[in-house]
Amino acid sequence: MFNYVWFRSDLRVQDNPALHSALTGTAKTEVRAIFYVTLQQWQEHAWGANKIGFVLQCVVELQKDLATLNVPLEIRYGNTFNDCVSDLCQYLQQQNVCGLYFNKEYELNEQNRDTKVIRAFDKTAVKVVCFDSQCLIAPSLILTKQNTPYTVYTPFKKACYEYLYRHPVKLISIPRAQNTKVAAFSIDPKLQKYLQNPILKLWPCDRNSVSKRLEEFCANKIDQYQEARDYPAFQGTSTLSPYLAVGRISVQQCFTAALSCNRNEFAVGNPNIVCWISELIWRDFYKHIMWHFPDLCKGYNFNRKYDKLKWDKPGKSLELWQTGNTGIPIIDAAMRQLVQTGWMHNRLRMIVAMFLTKNLLIDWRHGEKFFSEHLVDLDLAANNGGWQWSASTGTDAAPYFRIFNPITQSEKFDPNGKFIKQYCPELEDVSLKALHDPSCYLTAMELQMLGYPERIVDLSASRQRALSYFKNL
Ligand SMILES: Cc1cc2nc3c(=O)[nH]c(=O)nc-3n(C[C@H](O)[C@H](O)[C@H](O)COP(=O)(O)OP(=O)(O)OC[C@H]3O[C@@H](n4cnc5c(N)ncnc54)[C@H](O)[C@@H]3O)c2cc1C
Repeated sequence: MFNYVWFRSDLRVQDNPALHSALTGTAKTEVRAIFYVTLQQWQEHAWGANKIGFVLQCVVELQKDLATLNVPLEIRYGNTFNDCVSDLCQYLQQQNVCGLYFNKEYELNEQNRDTKVIRAFDKTAVKVVCFDSQCLIAPSLILTKQNTPYTVYTPFKKACYEYLYRHPVKLISIPRAQNTKVAAFSIDPKLQKYLQNPILKLWPCDRNSVSKRLEEFCANKIDQYQEARDYPAFQGTSTLSPYLAVGRISVQQCFTAALSCNRNEFAVGNPNIVCWISELIWRDFYKHIMWHFPDLCKGYNFNRKYDKLKWDKPGKSLELWQTGNTGIPIIDAAMRQLVQTGWMHNRLRMIVAMFLTKNLLIDWRHGEKFFSEHLVDLDLAANNGGWQWSASTGTDAAPYFRIFNPITQSEKFDPNGKFIKQYCPELEDVSLKALHDPSCYLTAMELQMLGYPERIVDLSASRQRALSYFKNL
C-alpha cells in the first residue's frame, strides 16, 4: 500500500504538514511523492522562463531532500491542469494507493483542479487529505464580526495578531526516514534549457543556502529593516520572496525565526522586527483577498468602478518602460534589475508601477504580465495586489491622487545614485543632480553622446492628466 504526497508550491521537507502527515501514518504504508510539470498551464498563467526554471531547480533539490527520507519523488508531465487531473487519477488507481496528501493552493484554477481530484477519488478507497500551510493563517479563519472578508490591511493585521495570540505558530518537524529504496527520477531533457538559465545562479535553492539566507537576514539585517528596506542600493530586505513563492521555505519558518529575535513577540518589541513581520502579514492579506475574491485571478479590477477607465494604448511607451529606456534613471535601473536578475526591490516595484499606470496611463494588466514573465518570485496574489495598489484600482490601494514623483523618489531612496549607476553605467560620470534627472540638466546632444534617452513623458503634465482622469471617472 502507498501514500502519495503531491507537491506543488510547497517544495520543502521541513514544516510541511502534508509530507509529515503521510509519513507519520501507519508504518506499513510506503510513502511516495509526485510533482507535475504543466508547462502550457504555467505559460497560460504568464509564468516566464525565470519562474519555470526556478521551480524546476527547486524540484531537483526537493528530490535530493526527499531521498534522505527514502521518499522517491516522481516527476510527471501534463500540458494543463486538466491533463494533470486525469493522469493523476488514472495513475494512482493503477497503483495500490490508499492516500493522497497535499497542501492547498488558493488560486482559482488551482482550486478547481484540486476540487476535480477530490471528486474523482470520492467513494473510492483513496483517502484525500489536504492541509492549509501556504499562509500564516488560513484564509477562512480571518473574518470580520459580520463574517465578511477584511478588505483593509490594518484591521486585517489586528485580527491576525489576535488570532496568533490565541493560536501560536508551531513548526512541523522533518519526519523520520522510511525504510525503502529510492529510485532516482530525472527531469525531461527537453526542460534542461530552463535549468541552464544563468539567472538561476543568483537564486541557489539547496536547503542549506535557503536556511542560511533566513539566518543571515535575522542575524545581520532585520535590526535595521524598517529604514534600510527602502534603499535599493543597500540590501536591507531578506530577498526570500522567490523561496516563499514556491514554498521552498514556509512563512511559518520566517515568522518564528523573526519571533526568536524579538523575545517571542510579533506585535510589540523591536520595531524593525515588527515591521518585517507585518510584511509577512501583507503576503497573507493578498492571498486571503484573492481567495475571497476569485475574480481577481481572472484579471478584474478589485474596485469595479475602475472598469470604466479608458487606459491609453500601450504602444512604444510600454516597450520603452519594459526595456529600461524611459529617460528616468530610477525607472530604467529598476526595469533593468528586473530583466537582469529576475527580481526587483519593493520600493522600485511601486515606483515603476505607479509610473506606468499614472504617468503613462497604461493598464496595470500590461505591467502585471511583464512582471510575471520576468519575476523569479512571481506570486499571483502579491503581484496582482501590488499592481492594483499602484494603479489605485485595488483593495486598500494608494489613493489616486497620491502619485509618486519618480525624481523625488530617486533623490530620496538612492541619494548617492549608487543603484542607478549599477544598472545605468552610461550615467556613471554625470553630476548627481543630472543622474537623478538627466533631461533637466543635460542637453539632447549630451544625452545622445552618453547613449541615454531623453525623458519620454512630461512628469508634471502627465500627473495632471492622470489626476483629472481618475477624478472625473
Ligand atoms: C507592483 C508590485 C508587484 C509585486 N509582485 C510580487 C510578486 O510577484 N511576488 C512577491 O512575492 N511579491 C511581490 N510584490 C511585493 C514585494 O515587492 C516583494 O514581496 C518584495 O520586494 C520581496 O523582497 P524580499 O523578499 O526581500 O522582501 P522582505 O522585505 O524581506 O519581506 C519579506 C516577505 O514578505 C512578503 N512581502 C513583502 N512585501 C510584500 C507586499 N507588499 N505584498 C505581499 N507580500 C509582501 C514577501 O513574501 C517577502 O519575501 C510586489 C509588489 C509590487 C508593488
